[in-house]
Amino acid sequence: MVKTTHEEKMLTVRFRVDEHAHIVVNTDICRECSVQSCVYVCPANLFVPLDDGGILFNYEQCFECGTCYIACNREGAIRWTYPRGGFGVTFRES
Ligand code: SF4
Ligand code: SF4
Repeated sequence: MVKTTHEEKMLTVRFRVDEHAHIVVNTDICRECSVQSCVYVCPANLFVPLDDGGILFNYEQCFECGTCYIACNREGAIRWTYPRGGFGVTFRES
């Protein structure tokens, strides 16, 4: 199986970033989470664990796959929607 690096994946997409975040993470809830599955499942590496147990999240380079929302086991930790029309990720043809 051919492995694709994060950098190679990012070369195949472009983003039109909305000023309104389409995903919001409640880091207070994340501090109580011992699993932090979002850190491991996000294909864009957008969840970064902090020393205080919280999570640093940046929505701007999101692939809109929904994996974080499905993987998160804490109700209310992630508020997830698609970006507004005209914004978000575009997958380029190779
Ligand atoms: S899995 Fe959910 S609750 Fe746990 S750190 Fe990630 S977003 Fe927060
Ligand atoms: S929707 Fe996908 S790419 Fe976006 S933050 Fe969640 S897991 Fe990462």
